[in-house]
Amino acid sequence: MRNATRGLAYEEALLFEQSQPGRRGVDLPALDVPEVDAAALLGQAFREEPAELPELSEVDVIRHFTRLSTWNAAVDLGLYPLGSCTMKYNPKINERLARLPGFALAHPHSPAAQVQGLLQLIYELEASLAAISGLDRVSLQPAAGAQGELAGIMMIRAYHESRGEPRHKVMIPDSAHGTNPASAALNGYDVVSVPSGSDGLLHPEAVEAAMNGDVAALMITNPNTLGLFETHIGRVCEIVHAGGGLVYGDGANLNALLGHSRPGDMGIDVMHFNLHKTFSTPHGGGGPGAGPVGVKEILAPFLPVPLVARDADGQYHWDEERPQTIGRLHGNHGNVGMLVRAYAYIRSLGPEGLRRCTEMAVLNANYLLSRLRGAFHVPFEGSVMHECVLSDRLLAETGVTTLDVAKRLIDHGYHPPTIYFPLVVAGALMIEPTESESRESLDRFADTLLDIVRETHEDPQAVMAAPQRTRLSRLDETRAARRPVLRWQPDPKE
Ligand SMILES: *Cc1c(COP(=O)(O)O)cnc(C)c1O
Repeated sequence: MRNATRGLAYEEALLFEQSQPGRRGVDLPALDVPEVDAAALLGQAFREEPAELPELSEVDVIRHFTRLSTWNAAVDLGLYPLGSCTMKYNPKINERLARLPGFALAHPHSPAAQVQGLLQLIYELEASLAAISGLDRVSLQPAAGAQGELAGIMMIRAYHESRGEPRHKVMIPDSAHGTNPASAALNGYDVVSVPSGSDGLLHPEAVEAAMNGDVAALMITNPNTLGLFETHIGRVCEIVHAGGGLVYGDGANLNALLGHSRPGDMGIDVMHFNLHKTFSTPHGGGGPGAGPVGVKEILAPFLPVPLVARDADGQYHWDEERPQTIGRLHGNHGNVGMLVRAYAYIRSLGPEGLRRCTEMAVLNANYLLSRLRGAFHVPFEGSVMHECVLSDRLLAETGVTTLDVAKRLIDHGYHPPTIYFPLVVAGALMIEPTESESRESLDRFADTLLDIVRETHEDPQAVMAAPQRTRLSRLDETRAARRPVLRWQPDPKE
């Protein structure tokens, strides 16, 4: 709706290509030195044909980029209910702090003595994450959740190899995020898919049936991707441990647990944190990320390096001398600005504030679920944690699918929720409102979805033709993903 209110002038401005031959945005002073023969001076590097750059005035350029910046969905513009991704508001104080020159301009190879403040922040963030998760040590090295998973499974492999008993299988519930099997497979493990029960939960019997002496680990997400708390987690971990395996916890849903329960206490041996989700950093479009990995003491020798250590005299230094480490995960210290943001978020909220984040996230998800139940099919009974999953089953006779509903939401100015994931629910719509949304904002979103359901029954064709209010309607999404065109190119001449 947002765009539609801007009227004709805005529609005219939709033209992407604004170049006019001869138009200039800069005015260079007249030459006050002798002219030289550029071709002679530059030799082969001299460009004979002018570069085909767009020709624009300053005002054209400013309006073009300002307009483009409003064509994207953004958490700063409205609710962004992308389930599992935790697109929540990022307090601006975090940005101010991440830009402090002592952090932002620190050279990655600075001697430790010159960056004591940064090292202290890293040291304290490690300790905070360990306290929040109930784990013993944390490395801030991994640059995203997926890399944290990779590091975690590498440590599990190193652990089994160090005991002289390499194993070959990793168990993963069928509701898992796609990065879980990818991380296991990249480490050479065969993935054993464990079916979840009809209640959406992982049951001890299913784990027991799949567990044997060749299973290195179970990877589990709690709450799972259906937004449900894995109530059998304690028993499940016992079974895996009894068989000599370890338990990997996918920590992407940690915003449902903060200050209430800790993965380490549930029996998790190693997990990653998605700082950009749980602890707020603007993310999306592929970056940036930070995926620290935390472990119980038995895995600490294998942590990626460097860690930060504190001497008896209170000085901080990089700790690289760890003989059993899985090594470095990248050249320097990761996306340090995100470590500053996460630290600021944790310290400004404090234990009580974090606890309240989780309470609000869970309340908001359950509020939306209760408003939408009945209009949409809800595959699992009971209440949820920080996100809820609906499906299009009740719309089946109209021919309208989850994809159509998602596209219609775009016409109403909303970024769609995650769709067709998790795979265990046919036609899934996965909604994560996050703790940032007010009651009014949730009501507006619920009203919009209910309007779309009403429209689906009255005029299904209108829903199937959405989106109508965007510059392009339905794209070939496979081609867009496989062959992304991300840069402006001059129109081909022919
Ligand atoms: C986001 C997510 C991941 C991957 O994290 P990235 O930081 O995007 O690499 C893994 N598991 C779950 C459940 C997630 O939601």
